[in-house]
This record gives sequence, structure tokens and C-alpha cells, in this order.
Amino acid sequence: MGSMTNDDVYSKYNLKKVINASGRMTILGVSTPRPQVTETVAHGLNEYFEMKDLVDKTGQYIAKLLNAENAAVISCASAGIVQSVAAFIVKDDKELLYDLHSSDKYVPREIILPKGHNVNFGAPVGTMVSLGGGVVVEAGYANECKPEHIEAMINADTAAILYVKSHHCVQKSILSVSETAAIAKKHGIPLIVDAAAEEDLQAYYNMGADIVIYSGAKAIEGPTSGLVVGRHQAIEWVKQQSNGIGRPMKVGKEGILGLTKAIELYMTEPAGETGQQMVDKMTPFINQLNALNGISAKVVWDGAGRDIARAEISFDEKVIGKNAVEMIKLMKQGDTAVYFREYKANEGKVDADVRSVSAAQLDVIYHKIKAIIEV
Ligand SMILES: *Cc1c(COP(=O)(O)O)cnc(C)c1O
Repeated sequence: MGSMTNDDVYSKYNLKKVINASGRMTILGVSTPRPQVTETVAHGLNEYFEMKDLVDKTGQYIAKLLNAENAAVISCASAGIVQSVAAFIVKDDKELLYDLHSSDKYVPREIILPKGHNVNFGAPVGTMVSLGGGVVVEAGYANECKPEHIEAMINADTAAILYVKSHHCVQKSILSVSETAAIAKKHGIPLIVDAAAEEDLQAYYNMGADIVIYSGAKAIEGPTSGLVVGRHQAIEWVKQQSNGIGRPMKVGKEGILGLTKAIELYMTEPAGETGQQMVDKMTPFINQLNALNGISAKVVWDGAGRDIARAEISFDEKVIGKNAVEMIKLMKQGDTAVYFREYKANEGKVDADVRSVSAAQLDVIYHKIKAIIEV
């Protein structure tokens, strides 16, 4: 945040400075890991390891932390989908491992995906399945998926069921992870859960998924990386993909060590900042905003019940002559782009998530708002 090195890259490459008051957004670089994690990343870069040993031993360490059979650090959650699909298609077959896409050897390749889970998270889930050598078979309808809809699609060509646990999916009349796990178990078919942005690193494994996939930089706030947690054999098959299609998805020693450290901290010392600390940090900012004509601000707590406080800023269009959508656009212009949470814009409001914003940056945001409305 405003250090000399950061100033250098911004001017050297002519990059726009960003204040991220929107929370974790892939388009802004997701998250900024804690100092202990960045130190671990730097340490990892400066050492050599037997890489197979590093993957195996950090995986065992993570598995122990999460009370699971096995785990491995991978390059990202999308690569997790690709390699999990490939894992259940290839299994121990070396011919397929080296030649997944052009081999015409017959093996089951169908991946059953509830239709409402066939989403675009920034890239389509279906594209990841194809990359892993799978063929998407949708189950149910856009607005409904019942156990019988999944069961209707199971046949001798089924390789796995893929469940996407995400706010991106249709939430109406969907199966739970446990219900899906019960179907998978009944038919002896593996279950993959994409839980990329979810916060609970144990729940879906405990519900019976064979592989659960997380994105390293989202909730865990690690470096760019991913995590697969699951049953022993399934994770070994994922790891083996690094000798096949997994190679262009390689994660480096710094990512492996950085994410392992981030998971340890996430499980043992959750949340760097408490909600009350966020309130303390943003109270002067809120008071300043409330002194501006046509702007009002207050503390609001996270809708999903997490210990996160945000500043809700309302724009009175009649007074300032601009609505929230226009304010959002103007705040992204100029030398420093300010990004808010935008989903309440149609109500004339934005939320400022201050987890990645310093007190000095809150001051920059205040002055930018003031300058825009006083034009
Ligand atoms: C973010 C996300 C991904 C992709 O994660 P990466 O680590 O960026 O590859 C996949 N699935 C869902 C549901 C996501 O939210």
C-alpha cells in the first residue's frame, strides 16, 4: 500500500493505482496475503527442494490440519476442476495420462453437472471439464435439480459428478452437497465439489465429497494458487496429472509454501481484523462523509453473518446531481481508481469493504468523493 516498490511498478508500467474497497475481486488481484505468508513465499523462492517431496509433505501437513485423508496445493481452482476430472477419467492408466485428448481408448468420460451449476465464474465450468478430457452431461433444469434428475443421467459412461458450491449457481430448488454425496455413494461414482470461494475447508469433505477444490487467494488469502482436499487415492491421481495435462498448470515452490502457511494461519488465527477493528478504522471516514451535503454513511454488518463491518454510503441524487451508478463510474476514473461493492447501486448506495483499505486510503476516498460532488 503506497510503498516505494509499489510506486515504482505503477509509474514504470504506467499502471493505474487501485484502492480496493470491494472485497475480494479476481479482476483486482483477489487479496493481499498477511506478512507471514509473503515472507514464506519469499523464503520459498530462495531455496531448493525435492519438488515431489515438497508437494507430498505439505499436502500431508494440510490434510492433518483439515482432518482429511489427503490434500495438495495446485495452481488455481480452475486447474483443480480440470485435474480432478482428468484424475477420474485416467486413474492409473499411463496411456491416457500421456495422451488424454487424442487417445481413442474407451473409458467413461461423462461428468454429470446439475444444469444450474453450469455457470461462468469468469470462465465457463464446462470448458474446464472439456480441458480435463470430460464431457459435460447436464442434470435437471435451470431452476430445479432433484436426486432423480442426477440418477437419470448415471450410466456406464459416467466418470464423476461435479457439484459447484457458489453464489454464481442457481440457488433455487438445488440439491445440497450431502444429498449429492449420498447419490454418488449409492452408485459408486466419485463426487467433485468446486468450493473455490467458500470459507469452510472441512464441511464438504466431511459431507462425503471425494475431492473438494478451493481457490488459494479467495477466502484463504494465500498467493495465487489452489487447494484440493480429498480421499487418498483421488488426490494421488490429481497429483499424477502433473506428468500429463497438469504440467501447464504447474504451481511453484513459493505458491506451495505460501498457501500451506496461509491455510495454517486461516485455521489457527482466523481473520486478521475483527469487525470491531473495522468499525474503529472507518468511524472517522464515516463522520467525514456525513458532514458532506447529500452524502450519508453508516456501519452495516455482513449479510452472511461473518464478522465483517462495512461502510454503507448513500448518495442523494437530488442534492449532488449524480446517482450511485454515475458515482461508481467517476470513482474509477483519474489517477487512483476506487472500487466499491456495487450491488446496491440501484438503491442509490454502495458499500465500502475496508479489509484491504488503510486509514490513509480512506482519506483518499473521502477527498475523491468530496471533489466529485463539489464540481
Ligand atoms: C473463483 C472461482 C473459480 C476459479 O478459481 P481460480 O482459483 O481463479 O481458478 C472456480 N469456481 C468458482 C465457483 C469460483 O468462484
